[in-house]
Amino acid sequence: MTDLHTATSQADCIFCGIIAGTLPAEVIVEDDDTIAFMDISPATPGHLLVVPRAHARDLLEIDAENLDAAVRLAQRMARRVIERLDADGVNLTNACGARAGQTVFHFHIHVIPRYAEDVLQRPWEPGAGDVASIARTADLLR
Ligand code: 5GP
Ligand code: ZN
Repeated sequence: MTDLHTATSQADCIFCGIIAGTLPAEVIVEDDDTIAFMDISPATPGHLLVVPRAHARDLLEIDAENLDAAVRLAQRMARRVIERLDADGVNLTNACGARAGQTVFHFHIHVIPRYAEDVLQRPWEPGAGDVASIARTADLLR
């Protein structure tokens, strides 16, 4: 039985459609393993998505080779937005799971150029942590 989450492409996946050329996109770069195209609802000018060609649902499912290829292309795109768009910085983000904000279930890395004048904020409010709680959680993770 085919596992739809790890199949090479998935019929109802928007990004598989873009990769196959059946859906339109502003493609920036593509190679054998990955593609980068503009996000249709950009957070800032130049917001693009780096996507492995092979369908994998998310960070938990993607294989190491495709993850590696995607991270490398994300770095290339980060350098490019700094150079060509005169961005002041860049955020790479990934949402893994609906609770984390994932809406397209084909692994992708957001490359979001940052500008001095943009109004984006980090998704949490930094505050003082509880030292004992941090230590307990650290124990769970070791
Ligand atoms: P997520 O919410 O899964 O982290 O990111 C999905 C991203 O895909 C969103 O930023 C959304 O704007 C973008 N997106 C959704 N549909 C399309 C589409 O059809 N074309 C393009 N280029 N981007 C899309
Ligand atoms: Zn897909």
